[in-house]
Amino acid sequence: MKRLLPFLSILVIASLACGLPAAQATQPSAADQPTEAGTSSPVENEAGDAVLYFTIGMHIEPMGETAQGFGSDKADYHTRQFFDKHVKDMRDLAQIIEAHGGRMTIQAQSPFTTVAIESGETVLADLAARGHEIALHFHEDAHLGKNSASLSVQQWCDVMKEEIGYIMQASGVADVSYWSGGNLYPSLYEAAECAGLEANSDWKNPNTQTTDMSLTGVTPWRPAGGTDGTDFTFFTQNDPNGAIVFLPEGQYDKTDFAASRRSDDAGGDEAYFEYLKESFYASLEAAQPGQVNVFHFTVHPGEFRGDPNDPFGVIERFLTEVVDPLVASGDVQWMTLSEMADAYAEQ
Ligand SMILES: [Zn+2]
Repeated sequence: MKRLLPFLSILVIASLACGLPAAQATQPSAADQPTEAGTSSPVENEAGDAVLYFTIGMHIEPMGETAQGFGSDKADYHTRQFFDKHVKDMRDLAQIIEAHGGRMTIQAQSPFTTVAIESGETVLADLAARGHEIALHFHEDAHLGKNSASLSVQQWCDVMKEEIGYIMQASGVADVSYWSGGNLYPSLYEAAECAGLEANSDWKNPNTQTTDMSLTGVTPWRPAGGTDGTDFTFFTQNDPNGAIVFLPEGQYDKTDFAASRRSDDAGGDEAYFEYLKESFYASLEAAQPGQVNVFHFTVHPGEFRGDPNDPFGVIERFLTEVVDPLVASGDVQWMTLSEMADAYAEQ
């Protein structure tokens, strides 16, 4: 039983990450699909001196009852052993990324934040002190209930502020400007602006676990409005006066990229990182000189642990083989998500 528990918790995490059923990928994996010549090698960067900004985001999911009293997963941050295990994953991953000169954007919510406050766990403060960005991951159902779509902008704003308050308290950071989540609320950007947020990414339809292709690419923009998950007219329209900068995830070429890692059909961790590599190189090729170009992907505590003797080996290898050479050559630069948004705002 002792050995079974970690396995079970990984299964639970895999199926509950982003609060939804595991992705049902029926598409062939990227590894099965022909790729254009050039996308497998970073050598020919036609964008010349274009720079691609890069980071790894981390989503901390709402496991257990949140500060607002919703949700009760079997995997629960109020269970000390489970909480500590994820804290250790966060510290271990951060250390790996730091060793490669990088910093993450760690996106948290209750009950992780409130358990950290109550128990005196300083992981968020420690990682903030080392330069990682601390931001908000907002599962609307977990903080607003099942009818979140029918609630007012002010109700969303109040609860987003409440969640940001716990993040600040747990981490000691004075400014939270990036968030992910709340994706199907058409007035999301009004609520986020009200809550003092400035940058957003990781759009994925929580029901289908897919991302509309109109949201992929390397160039940020300021959406004219949100989406209900079907109509992307306002979302994809740039409003120069918009309050929120949207950071696309990169030059991905299939709609389930954000969830494909959770599908065994997709070939597991190795195949997922192979697809990330292709997408990373494609993003580099799409990058334009003089523009802000962005690429990032998302991990969760409990994910990609792989071989117990080589935890997070797929991430370590990706950083060593794919990212480090491009950072050394100046083609890629580490940057947190809100730093990317700031760079876009200032250009
Ligand atoms: Zn999530």
